[in-house]
Amino acid sequence: MVNWHRVAFLVRGRSAIATLGALYVVLAFGWAAGQLTAGNPVSNVVLVSSFIGLPGLALLYGGYRLPRTDIRPEFYPTIANWCLGGLGLLLGILVLYQFEPAESVSDPFRAALVLTAFGSAAGFGVGLHDALAKTRALELEVRNRELRRTKEQLDETVARLEAANDEFEASNERLEQFAYAASHDLQEPLRMVTSYLTLVESRYGDDLDADGREFIEYAVDGADRMREMIDGLLAYSRVGTQGDAFEPVDLEAVFTAVRQDLEVQLAESDATVETAALPHVEGDRNQLRQLFQNLLSNAIEYSGDDPPRITVTAERNGTDWTVSVADEGIGIDPTDADRIFEVFQRLHSRDEYAGTGIGLALCKRIVERHGGEIWVESEPGEGSTFSMTLPAVSDRGE
Ligand code: ADP
Repeated sequence: MVNWHRVAFLVRGRSAIATLGALYVVLAFGWAAGQLTAGNPVSNVVLVSSFIGLPGLALLYGGYRLPRTDIRPEFYPTIANWCLGGLGLLLGILVLYQFEPAESVSDPFRAALVLTAFGSAAGFGVGLHDALAKTRALELEVRNRELRRTKEQLDETVARLEAANDEFEASNERLEQFAYAASHDLQEPLRMVTSYLTLVESRYGDDLDADGREFIEYAVDGADRMREMIDGLLAYSRVGTQGDAFEPVDLEAVFTAVRQDLEVQLAESDATVETAALPHVEGDRNQLRQLFQNLLSNAIEYSGDDPPRITVTAERNGTDWTVSVADEGIGIDPTDADRIFEVFQRLHSRDEYAGTGIGLALCKRIVERHGGEIWVESEPGEGSTFSMTLPAVSDRGE
């Protein structure tokens, strides 16, 4: 289909300039032919016809070269308008002169004065445009220079951060290796302590008095706690190094599995868990299962006197999903909101609530490995909402 807007645009632009140029070239030849036929001297005819033809050629050539300049095509009509404007202006001046008495038209000094005055005014108009264009170009140049400087500073900052980040990663890795080695090596002597305690209990239990049996019970309990802590530390140190590759994970399926894992706890506490429609995220299936198991089991553990009521929701934020696990339990003082994500940080004694204080630290490590963040919003007695960001599965458009 013919695009008439485009045709009209072209006619008003380059074509108008070229047509004007061609017209002057034709007029130059026509005028020369007429003058030569009338017997006028050749040198005079050549000079005057070149005054007419050369600007015509300049217009033709200029119109032809326009696409190779930096001028945007939508501004070609502006140039054509300036050409026609100049033509009209001088034509108007000449017409005005026709109304003057013959002797004043033939006064060269006056004609020169009037024409140069008009010329100056016309030049002023063009000059204004030119100056404005140059001013804008200069402003752009200055802004460009500022942008370049800002970019250089940004590049420097990024480079510095990448150094710092490398160091951070290296020290993190060393720490993980240390935690792994320490917890791994502690397992063996701990197993020895536990098995010899069990041996003492079974072989000499009857010879001990009530105090002796109680002491052994404490020692076994302590050893069990230490084993739990070591297991937690081992799991914590393995998050970064021994995780699986990321894949699309259906969080609905993860929650079904977590409910099965916690079946006994859920039934014993008479808990209700409501889950909204949950998305697929890009992640490590086993680690995500561990993450939600810890959060759900905490929500059950810290539910207070009433049966636990837990709600799981998900909300899309750009390329991430924010998944929240909310309970109506004992709540947390906002001043402790950061501390609870650190290793072995607990807000209660073991008499009040059992636990090792590693669960939320593990959750944080898992979420961070997924490039996300985890946080809690809570008030004492008002329940807690643990939220985390996890990467959406991009190619599924979810
Ligand atoms: P643990 O539960 O083994 O003590 P966590 O790291 O899972 O260790 O939790 C750290 C502390 O944060 C807990 O001791 C508890 O005081 C607090 N906490 C965790 N989850 C909740 C919750 N849902 N409601 C209230 N307090 C919580």
